[in-house]
Amino acid sequence: MIKNGKFFEYKGCLHIHTTESDGTKTLEEVADIASDVGLDYILISDHMTLKSRNEGKEGFYNKTLVLIGYEHNDSEDCNHYLLFNTGRVLGDTLTPQEYVAEGRRQGALGIIAHPDEIRPRLGKYPSYPWLAWDAVGFDGIEIWNQMSEWMENLKPYNKVKMVFSPRRFMRSPTGRILQKWDDLNMIRKVAGLGAVDVHGFPYRIGPIRITIFPYKVQFKSLRTHVLLTEELSQNLERARDQIYGAIRDCRIFVSNYRWGDAAGFEFLAGDKDNYITGGGTIPISKNILLSARTPEKGSIRLICNSHEVARVDGDSFQFQPVKKGIYRIEVYKKEKGWIFSNHIRIGL
Ligand SMILES: [Zn+2]
Ligand SMILES: [Zn+2]
Repeated sequence: MIKNGKFFEYKGCLHIHTTESDGTKTLEEVADIASDVGLDYILISDHMTLKSRNEGKEGFYNKTLVLIGYEHNDSEDCNHYLLFNTGRVLGDTLTPQEYVAEGRRQGALGIIAHPDEIRPRLGKYPSYPWLAWDAVGFDGIEIWNQMSEWMENLKPYNKVKMVFSPRRFMRSPTGRILQKWDDLNMIRKVAGLGAVDVHGFPYRIGPIRITIFPYKVQFKSLRTHVLLTEELSQNLERARDQIYGAIRDCRIFVSNYRWGDAAGFEFLAGDKDNYITGGGTIPISKNILLSARTPEKGSIRLICNSHEVARVDGDSFQFQPVKKGIYRIEVYKKEKGWIFSNHIRIGL
């Protein structure tokens, strides 16, 4: 945890598989790795099972809070959806519209997984995009899924390099998904998260057997930082509400740790005594200032209603918004995506 202005910032990873489904390490092993790497929290989501949660395995492992949800799919194994804060796996014959609505009705936190996945060169491994955009009641979407990006960019000539240094080739969320996410936010708040989607699969190239995405490497890539208004409670029930509440409220930002530790990143609207961050709404007025600060220099871009309205190379930035809209920040290092804020809503 670090203190970030008036907030308490916690960094973590989500969309993690264990041996309860198709992951290769047990929950306890995964929790140990997360704690070694210094993550404050992780969110586990095995396919169609809450066994670990129902065995009472949620809780603190050293300093890392481990929370357990699951990944739902429809009867054709499509439309993957992460559900947290629920004790029961929903029926496997429900349509995506039905499991999104039912999750909401039960007070679960629902996040659409790898929504815009394309796997152009992997005929025998189909992609699993989200197709049910008319579903009502999801809280967030993965704007950046490491597995999806890797699969989409895999080409015959770069295969060996991609296998040996998977993080080096990461660029940014796709333009497609950022557009979709902005469109959704024009109507209502929808959180944007970064997901590692880690399984730790072994892979064979000729005689060599390697794990392309070991858990430890993945935990040093896409992170979702949550900003709490109070310190994380040691009480499990309370801590769960704090983490899920911040995600639902979009008080989060996404970073790729490969390009630097983004802890301490700020994106604020207001004045020095009274301000909001991503997820907040503020009326439009002459005195409003949007400001951003990054822990290291980068190319900071302000996006309003899907259009870039300002760009600064440096580590801080201020802007006086004159029109209503949804504002967010993207920070790049050498054209590689580093930090993505959630939206601040002005005059909406
Ligand atoms: Zn999936
Ligand atoms: Zn998954």
